[in-house]
Amino acid sequence: MDRYVVLADIHANARALRAVLRDAAASGPVRTVWVLGDVVGYGAEPNECIELLRDYACVSVAGNHDLGAIGRADLSLFNANAAAACAWTSARLSSASVEFLSALAARVEAPPFLLVHGSPAGPTWEYVVSAARARELSSFCPLPHCLVGHTHVPAAFRMDAAPAGRAGVEVVDGVLSLRQGRFLVNPGSVGQPRDGDPRAAYADVLVDDLTVHFRRVAYDVAAAAASIVNAGLPEMLGARLRVGC
Ligand code: ZN
Repeated sequence: MDRYVVLADIHANARALRAVLRDAAASGPVRTVWVLGDVVGYGAEPNECIELLRDYACVSVAGNHDLGAIGRADLSLFNANAAAACAWTSARLSSASVEFLSALAARVEAPPFLLVHGSPAGPTWEYVVSAARARELSSFCPLPHCLVGHTHVPAAFRMDAAPAGRAGVEVVDGVLSLRQGRFLVNPGSVGQPRDGDPRAAYADVLVDDLTVHFRRVAYDVAAAAASIVNAGLPEMLGARLRVGC
């Protein structure tokens, strides 16, 4: 069965990334890994995360933090802690990491999915947080479904109208079927979840039966938080990992 692992917002958290890759490997063979941007920024292990991804046949798009770290996004667009983390990251990226980040496209078509960091209309910067906005975005999406990151919150919205009397989106035991309708799906964040659950989030897509499986993985959050503080990054970036927001 063709299986794709979908990762977003890793944010230089190598412990979370390793835990997710281990969990994904334990569930069976993986066709490839799709990365929806923000591999770096906030966390203390940007080069380690990129090296881990380079071992896989990854298809990745650029996130706003990836661009900020290589000087392709104006740091005034980031809040103070995010800008500080971008500057910290820029100063430490290896040349191989710069090469990896520089090669990322804003959007990738992987039928039946469009992969972007933000949204089909604003691929790098737009946050999609409502069903109403997801429907407006359908005309910007040339493929049936869209996979996004950026909000750090797992979510699924319909881009088309649900049939009368039917639920628009039904996630049952963490599984969403894409068979009926057009969907915009966010797997949540590997390295800095913001939905109140500190465990790393990711998703599997099974292409044969068109299902998305939302997954959570426990990892050593305390060690990741300590590495951020020890690296001299803003302390709140460590603290927020413990509460998942
Ligand atoms: Zn992010």
